[in-house]
Amino acid sequence: MAYRALTEQEAVEYVRNLPNLFATGATLASHEIGDGNLNLVFHIRDEEGGKSVIVKQALPYARVVGESWPLTLDRARIEAEALQIQYKLVPELVPHVYHYDAELALTVMEDLSDHIIMRKGLIAKNRYPLFAKHIGRFLAHTLFYTSDIGAHPYEKKALVGSFINPELCKITEDLVFTDPYEDASTNNFNPLIRPEVEDIWHNAPLKREIAKLKYGFLTRAEALLHGDLHTGSIFVTETSTKVIDPEFAYYGPLGFDIGAVFANLLLNYAAQHGLAKNDEERESYRAYLLETVEDVWSEFVSQFVQLWHKQAKERSAHVEGFWQDYVKNVLQDAVGYAGCKMLRRVIGLAGVADLNTIESDEVRAEAERLALAIGQALILERTQVAEATDITAIVNKTV
Ligand code: ADP
Ligand code: MG
Ligand code: MG
Ligand code: MG
Repeated sequence: MAYRALTEQEAVEYVRNLPNLFATGATLASHEIGDGNLNLVFHIRDEEGGKSVIVKQALPYARVVGESWPLTLDRARIEAEALQIQYKLVPELVPHVYHYDAELALTVMEDLSDHIIMRKGLIAKNRYPLFAKHIGRFLAHTLFYTSDIGAHPYEKKALVGSFINPELCKITEDLVFTDPYEDASTNNFNPLIRPEVEDIWHNAPLKREIAKLKYGFLTRAEALLHGDLHTGSIFVTETSTKVIDPEFAYYGPLGFDIGAVFANLLLNYAAQHGLAKNDEERESYRAYLLETVEDVWSEFVSQFVQLWHKQAKERSAHVEGFWQDYVKNVLQDAVGYAGCKMLRRVIGLAGVADLNTIESDEVRAEAERLALAIGQALILERTQVAEATDITAIVNKTV
């Protein structure tokens, strides 16, 4: 079928005709539930049998802006292929793909509606005791096995070729690494923080560090990244974690995905200024968030280093001292990328609900100033970071 955006009814007819999903003649209910910036997401459920699936379809433009912002349908292929690679490495941590249709740019996948989007869970101040272990495993396995250390050299180069994702990378290059640091038309910030934003636009040493981080994003094909690993791309329950939405996947610096997780935990930390009901609740939840940042790093690093020692295909992996230097660079990159991601969520086009939920403009501005201060400190001080407790120290010093 030639490409066209499906209606709810057409999505039902589409899945009805796929083998092995629903019984013939089943009564299927369909709802478009997409809340993301880019795509259509249909939830389709058998009203008697109870079975359900998700149909995600790319639009030929960015949903958040409309048809004036055309965007490649190839992102649906990238997403489906990335999900399939991740499923081979960590099947319990991603949705199962049932079907991919290149022409319609759509993927039929496992319905995860029994989970909640982690950003919502953090806004509700829920705690997820297994999250750090799960996301540490996701990061360690997906990054290690696609890197030059863990993949066969031919396989690695072939993967780089399948995940050239220029249009989605360009969105990151502009919206994370460029526009927020100058007076760009895409920016969208609270007018009350204009003085702090202008300080950033005029902060030459900061912009120099961001330029270096951007150059790393542009040039370092280290591992197959998820590319958009914010807490809106993570589904959680108390016992389960599932990573969705890897349409930004490409070969880039490992620290970028880890930094995305740090940034989104710390954006919630800043937002607790306005989200928490009282000081006690705020302090306690913030302590949980900082602990989670540290645990994510320690889970990642212990699993990654274990894979390095046991599964490395690259012989130089065993050269004395190399893994320690490598891991330290990943942490410093992660801290720098976390800083960029915090700044862009305050200044740039796409904000986060953690902050935007705060109703009072004044209170939200205070939370945003804190996010800006933490983000800048992370970028400027990243080269002194040697362990995850140094991140906690930077945050505590900034408050
Ligand atoms: P976008 O690329 O447009 O951001 P996402 O993949 O993030 O799209 O999906 C948008 C929303 O659709 C999610 O926030 C979630 O509410 C819902 N959704 C996406 N995938 C699933 C799934 N596998 N199971 C249940 N809901 C999903
Ligand atoms: Mg999304
Ligand atoms: Mg979303
Ligand atoms: Mg997406």
